[in-house]
This record gives sequence, C-alpha cells and structure tokens, in this order.
Amino acid sequence: MSSDVETSLRGPKAYALARKAIEAMEAHQVWPTALNFELWVHYVAAKDSALATEIDHLIEAGEPFTDAVGEQLAAQFLPKAKLNGEILEAGQTLSKELDSVSRAIESARETSEAYGQQLASASESLDGEDAQAIKSMVETLTVATRKVREENHALESQLQDTTAELGRLREHLEQVRRDAMTDALSGLANRKAFDEALERACDQGEQGGPVTLAVIDIDHFKSFNDTWGHQTGDQVIRYVASVIQRCSPAPRVSARYGGEEFAIIFPGESARDSLAVLEAVREEVSSRILKRRSTNEDLGAITISAGIAERKPGESPASLVERADSALYASKRGGRNRTSCADPIAAAA
Ligand code: GH3
Ligand code: MG
Ligand code: MG
Repeated sequence: MSSDVETSLRGPKAYALARKAIEAMEAHQVWPTALNFELWVHYVAAKDSALATEIDHLIEAGEPFTDAVGEQLAAQFLPKAKLNGEILEAGQTLSKELDSVSRAIESARETSEAYGQQLASASESLDGEDAQAIKSMVETLTVATRKVREENHALESQLQDTTAELGRLREHLEQVRRDAMTDALSGLANRKAFDEALERACDQGEQGGPVTLAVIDIDHFKSFNDTWGHQTGDQVIRYVASVIQRCSPAPRVSARYGGEEFAIIFPGESARDSLAVLEAVREEVSSRILKRRSTNEDLGAITISAGIAERKPGESPASLVERADSALYASKRGGRNRTSCADPIAAAA
C-alpha cells in the first residue's frame, strides 16, 4: 500500500475512506477480500493514480472483477507492497545463510570449500523467487562474499605475519644454536660441539665403520706469545684453524679443543686415511712464513705436532681422546713438527 494511502487510513477520514471503498466494491460486485480491499482503497483514495485509471477502464469495458483480475492489478500496481514481503523473505533467507556462513568460519575456521557449500545452498533457495528478489539477494550475497573474502585476506595476512615471525624466530634460534656450538676465535666447533660430535661418531662406529681422532698442538706457542704478543698469537690460532678447516671438510669435524690445541674427528675413516690429511695440514702450516698483519713484520714459520688414534671396537670417546693425546705427546717427545699414530701398525703404514 502506498504511503499516502496508508496515512489516509490512519487519519481523520479513515472510516469515510474505508466505507467509500466498500461501497465501490459492492457497486461493482467485487468480493471484499483483503487484496481487493487494498486495491479499492487505492482506487477511492487516489482517483488520478494509474491503478484508479486502469480500474475505470475495466468498469467501462464491463469486465468482471474476478480474483485473477485482482491479483493481476496488485502485481502490476502494488509492486512495492509485494516486494517488501519478498525483501523480508530474502533478508531472512540471507541472514540464515550468513549465520551459517559465519558459524562455519567461526567454529571450524572453515575453508573456502565449506563456504562454497553455503553459497550453493543459498542459490538453491533462490529457486522460485522473482527477478527483483533474486537481484536483491544476489547483491546482498555479493556484499557478504566480499566481506568473507576480506576477512579471509586479513586472516591470511595475519597468518603470513605469524609465519614470517616464526621464520625469523627459527633463524634466530638457529643462530643462537650455532653460536653455542662455535668457537668465537677460530670459527671451528667448540669443545661442547666436539664432545657431542665425538659421541655421535663413536655411536655410529658401533655399526662397524672406523672412527679416527686426531689432536693437534702448536709447537712452542708460549714463546711465540712471549715474543710477539697475545694478539698476534690469536692470529696464528686463526690461521692454523683455517688450514685445518680447509683440509678436513664435512663429514669430518674440526674443533678448537683448548687454548692452542685442535682436534679433527674422521667418521668412517681409518688412521691411515687421516694420516694423509694431518700431514697435509702440518706441511702447509710449517711451509708458510707468517707476517704480522699490522706491521708486515716477519714472524718466521710455526710448526704443529699431531697425534692420531683409530677407535678400537667398543672404545669410549674418553679413551680414544687419551690415546690420541698420548700419540701427540710422542710427537712432542720425538722432536715436534710431526704426526704420530697410537696404533703401531697404522703408524708403520
Ligand atoms: P709445546 O710445543 O710443548 O706445546 O709448547 P707450548 O709453549 O706450546 O706449550 P704450553 O702448553 O706450555 O703453552 C701453551 C701456550 O699457548 C700458553 C699460552 O700462552 C698459549 N695460549 C693458549 N691459549 C691461547 C690463546 O687463546 N691465545 C693466545 N694468543 N695464546 C694462547
Ligand atoms: Mg698445548
Ligand atoms: Mg703447544
């Protein structure tokens, strides 16, 4: 019902208008149904309206006012009232849809698959609605879809932020872990990392493969420090470490064992295999005339001594270290700048 007719039915002339409508209906043999009453109220209230003009045409033509005629007039001239009802229905359907969509998102952090099902059921419920209602519902669903998409985007970017933050945290932890296992001066594995690596290598050695340990000590390093100073001594430690590192890449493990002492673990290698590596390191270190970086002063050459021990079946890491140390001591006693093996057979080879 148009708003001015609505207003008239609540104003001072309401009953007069209603009576007039009923009189007109009676005069033209129209049944007093709710729909017909609505039409004829419009007819008597707004004589210039398109609806009134059409009714006048029908009266002139002597057409009977059947229910079908009434419904046709209502559909044609009272579209607003009909649409209101349909909008309401569409709204209810939509809000049902939205409820289930947001429930889906909230309860199960639903994926787009579930949302797709909601949309599918919405489009099913559109069947039988007229074009206007469908248009209205589709528009509202479009808005809702956009909103959900935006929420998903927000969720996604939140997830990305969290993932990136976790990545940074993981990197940081990895760095902390590396720092905790690395000797700051030489960049080699520190004592803790060495102990763990040797334990691991010995465990794996239980499955049959050989494990060899080498220990290296800089010769007469006390006097070197006394002559050139502790800082220059540090540079020598770094230099020796770099040679060791270069000559024994992974899976070998190079470590700074103590002050001017180093160790190399050779998983899967015999004393004979590792002897060649130790000799290469020893020769390279002793062949280089060192220079003081700051003054380019000639420091002369330094030498190293080494001891090698191949693990015996069932031998503990501590025992292996002890035998390698003994071999190193033999090198020192023997005159330094040499490599000794704990196992005399391997030494002979
Ligand atoms: P040897 O040939 O018998 O090994 O003689 P050495 O003088 O090297 O042996 P010793 O163990 O008596 O001396 C080790 C010296 O190494 C003592 C110390 O001055 C030096 N040293 C130990 N750690 C460091 C370090 O981190 N930096 C420097 N610059 N010197 C160190
Ligand atoms: Mg020493
Ligand atoms: Mg020494």
